[in-house]
Amino acid sequence: MELNIAAFVSSSASNGPGKRAVVWVQGCPFRCPGCFNPDFQPFDGGSPVSPGVLADRISVVDGIEGVTFSGGEPFCQAEGLAEAARRLKKQGLNVVTFTGLTYREIREKRRSSWNSLIRETDLLIAGRYDRLLPARHPLLSSSNQELVHISPHMEGRIQETGIEVEYIIGCSGEITVSGFPVQGRFHGRGGTGKKPCHIFHG
Ligand code: SF4
Repeated sequence: MELNIAAFVSSSASNGPGKRAVVWVQGCPFRCPGCFNPDFQPFDGGSPVSPGVLADRISVVDGIEGVTFSGGEPFCQAEGLAEAARRLKKQGLNVVTFTGLTYREIREKRRSSWNSLIRETDLLIAGRYDRLLPARHPLLSSSNQELVHISPHMEGRIQETGIEVEYIIGCSGEITVSGFPVQGRFHGRGGTGKKPCHIFHG
């Protein structure tokens, strides 16, 4: 199955503990008011890529400890992301996944593709964004969201997400804004102000 990717950054310090590649998928059904990534809500657009090519692209990045899946809604592309994550975890990388679903919704639906992505996830940040419930937390953008350690790999490491906002200058001079801006100025859970040019080929 092909993934549909909205944006990609090879190394970020604002989307989970340590330095991480970040993949934003295209398409989200939730339409939360105040979403920081409205361009990533439509299911059309984006760049197609196979899970294997995505994993290869990430596995050659130096100095990262894992990958973060964001969006858009990663669980709308759960099967492909789980496949990419499986390949990366064999190489020792860890996985952070953001979702607008609650952990309870994921467990109650019992969809096999959702369960596959949960199995490959170490740290899950779950729940719709609610702009009326601001949070002061390195990884939560509203206080209703929950942080679930699916595995113990990142327990005690949340504060290592020290940077609120990053400005990443890409290969063609484009600027990607990523992270968790100060409440009241921007909203949302990590995103890009502009899509980077280096998506995928092949
Ligand atoms: S905040 Fe997240 S869950 Fe809500 S519409 Fe935006 S991408 Fe979707």
